[in-house]
Amino acid sequence: MKLASTTTALTYRRKEFSKAVKREALGRSGGLCEGWGTKVGLIGSTRCNVPFGVAVQYDHVDAINNDDVSVDNCQCLCVTCHAYKTAKIDIPKHAKVKRIFDKHNGIVRPKGKWPKRKFNQPRFDNTKFIGAELDHDT
Ligand SMILES: [Zn+2]
Repeated sequence: MKLASTTTALTYRRKEFSKAVKREALGRSGGLCEGWGTKVGLIGSTRCNVPFGVAVQYDHVDAINNDDVSVDNCQCLCVTCHAYKTAKIDIPKHAKVKRIFDKHNGIVRPKGKWPKRKFNQPRFDNTKFIGAELDHDT
């Protein structure tokens, strides 16, 4: 997601891959899942290589830059890899971009929702607890 101007960030819609790009990416994958490494929940630097049945899903490699719909930004994933990457990588990244965008543009929680603590007063009246402690010892 590009945050160059406010209007583009607010009216943002991600772009989808064209049919030609999907065909090219599928040919490149060789009919096997291109999920690679810890990004899709695999151990170390291994490739998933699950053969596609009916379910092949096309994923934006760079989740933030969804405007890039070229073959370089497209990968073919199995359902498991795609679900893992979406939940663990993409959604947190988008949330972080949104937080940074909000902070940069002064979009914050309204102030004064919680009462402020008065520092010249104790947090609570503890005199009765002191008395109860003395009764307990006797
Ligand atoms: Zn996979």
